[in-house]
Amino acid sequence: MKKANKISVRGIVQGVGFRPFIYRLAREHGLTGTAGNNSNGVEIEIEGNPVSIQSFIRSIKESPPPLALIDAIESSDAEVKEYSDFTIIQSKENDERFTLISPDVTVCNDCLRELFDPGDKRYRYPFINCTNCGPRFTIIRDIPYDRPNTTMSAFRMCEACSREYNDPENRRFLAQPNACPDCGPALSLFDNRRKSVATNDPISLAVTLLSDGNVVAIKGLGGYHLACDALNEEAVSGLRSRKHRIEKPFAVMIPDLSWLDKIAAPSGEEIRFLNVKERPIVLMKRRKNSPVATAVAPNNNFLGIMLPYTPIHHLLLREAGRPLVMTSGNISDEPIAYTDEDAFDRLAGIADYFLTHDRNIHIRCDDSVGFVPEGKPVMLRRSRGYVPYPIPIDHHAEKAVLAVGGHLKNTFCLVQNKYAFLSHHIGDLENYETLRSLTDGVEYFKKLLTLTPGVVAYDMHPDYLSTRYALESDIPVKIPVQHHHAHIVSCMTEYGLDREVIGVAFDGTGYGSDGNIWGGEFIIATPADFRRFAHIAYFPLPGGETAIREPFRTGAALLFSVFGIEFGNLDLDLVKRIRAMHPDLLSLIPKMISQKINTPLTSAAGRLFDGVAALCGIRDKVNYEAQAAIEFQMCADESITNTYLYDLHRERTITQVRLDTMIGEIVKDLLEGKSASYISGAFHNTMASLIGEISESIREETGIGRVVLSGGVFQNELLVRKSITDLRRRKFDVYTHSKVPPNDGGLSLGQAVVAMHRVEK
Ligand code: ZN
Ligand code: ZN
Ligand code: FE
Repeated sequence: MKKANKISVRGIVQGVGFRPFIYRLAREHGLTGTAGNNSNGVEIEIEGNPVSIQSFIRSIKESPPPLALIDAIESSDAEVKEYSDFTIIQSKENDERFTLISPDVTVCNDCLRELFDPGDKRYRYPFINCTNCGPRFTIIRDIPYDRPNTTMSAFRMCEACSREYNDPENRRFLAQPNACPDCGPALSLFDNRRKSVATNDPISLAVTLLSDGNVVAIKGLGGYHLACDALNEEAVSGLRSRKHRIEKPFAVMIPDLSWLDKIAAPSGEEIRFLNVKERPIVLMKRRKNSPVATAVAPNNNFLGIMLPYTPIHHLLLREAGRPLVMTSGNISDEPIAYTDEDAFDRLAGIADYFLTHDRNIHIRCDDSVGFVPEGKPVMLRRSRGYVPYPIPIDHHAEKAVLAVGGHLKNTFCLVQNKYAFLSHHIGDLENYETLRSLTDGVEYFKKLLTLTPGVVAYDMHPDYLSTRYALESDIPVKIPVQHHHAHIVSCMTEYGLDREVIGVAFDGTGYGSDGNIWGGEFIIATPADFRRFAHIAYFPLPGGETAIREPFRTGAALLFSVFGIEFGNLDLDLVKRIRAMHPDLLSLIPKMISQKINTPLTSAAGRLFDGVAALCGIRDKVNYEAQAAIEFQMCADESITNTYLYDLHRERTITQVRLDTMIGEIVKDLLEGKSASYISGAFHNTMASLIGEISESIREETGIGRVVLSGGVFQNELLVRKSITDLRRRKFDVYTHSKVPPNDGGLSLGQAVVAMHRVEK
């Protein structure tokens, strides 16, 4: 009883090992037929025993390859053609109109086993890979995804490798980067004058150099890392000063999970997240008295930890037997170096040695970062391992949309059909290099996805380089999107929410519709529109950008708004410290505020955190973005249940949250000698209950019971936890980010979705 079926599988089923999967499945079920790609997905003709066919279809649905995303499977009866076996039809180029490019994939367990098997031909081969693992996104130059279109084109497969590549039964069937010691890339070691260091074992020598306290630049998947011994205080401090990175935490790579308990206090969910195939850096509470050098993350309770993800890392870490600092190969906030030329140019002053190789990186891609507040993983930077895997959206875009993101932590996003392709981490658009990285990145994605955007979405800030890039582009339809609306919609998109929500956007800075700097916003939002319901009352930011780097200015401004010019007579440490900096500052700051000299108004929660942190003596000037706020969070005493008072003022349709009373109470606490830990605890409580109370008043007026939290301030684990608890107690449905960062790294997704809805309106 032979039967035949024609099955079409739609969704993301190309470039993800789907056809080899179908091949093996058909073989297992004793079925014959063909599988090939077409413009919608994969088309299968299958024949044999009807029961086996049913089971075959069930297996496709139930256990597809990990990277596949199936939209629909349609099956219909077909004519029996008496196929004698099952074959894969190779695709023609014009068949593949919608090809998914896979992210780079962590080395798989099979390859790992071979890597450490002395009997294997790829024993200790640093470029081992197979169909299930290896570099993808970072080596692809063009589509279709075939070897000549990758940076592996420089290497000709040897006979043995070619045999594996052409054998459907082999794990390396159609594995484009397939290589072995006879035919593939190789490692080499250089000193920082680019003189080759002779050795037949670059890994072992690199490990020796690292344990001697040297800094080694290591070429990885998406760029160069700077590595040193994470247990060596002197080596880590040396790396810090050479890299001009003051105090911003470094990430650490550990050899295996056995190291975790020695240096951190992880929860089960954190361990699970550390282990996901994308291998992000996970921020975890560090263990006190851990052997990791303090200079790795000064004044920080958290440690960024990751596991090895390439064969090179596995070889290095296993031999080193201890954690290594692995931080991006750049100076300060420049983009990560990924070409050899650039690495030698820029990193020679930092690294003592270079462990490099001859497989080129086509596009830079930084490590991804996440953390686990409230038991659920949240991305803080979505890049290597995740990109360009799309985020499905519950809406069909008629025209392809490009969204260019914000200014800091820039990413861009392309939306086509029902998928949003959020880019890798581009960085802070503060120099030409990063802007180039954005424009090159956009061109690269357009090529990979074969799409031409008809709509471009951008931030309303007139001075952002991304805004200018959008306005100068030749994309016909241009749509400005308000910063905090974009934040809220990016989170809504994760959950497919398209009806009205209460959006709480707590953020560092973002251009408001009235020209002020917003960031303490309560909005009622749909994907197309928003209405501002409430915000933190504006306070001055004397010096603008300078106040962001020097939070003491914001602290002084908060005092001035409550106490007037008399604030200079308060017996507060902050006042004394300002006087010590310069006696004139105490009169200069009020003057700037009163005469509005370089003093924008802001409602930004992030700036409020900065100012209160300065008030409590945490930090007057910062070395990296949000440092004062982060350290203020770190010092909070969580056992405090006290909250401060605030006042709500309704002016026409907008409620203003006035914090004068709270500032007054904080000053009183300081004068009474209460600690920063106490004040931080009470301040966090206040912010959480503020979020709860205002959400409740919005619900009373509108009946909306869904609250969406977004914006950079929600990277604050303590605030997230307290806010969620408060909102749930009030019986709200609370939505927080998971796949997409709450910070500006997620902005472009929100922009794209807003623009999509606006175009249709
Ligand atoms: Zn593998
Ligand atoms: Zn070979
Ligand atoms: Fe923002």
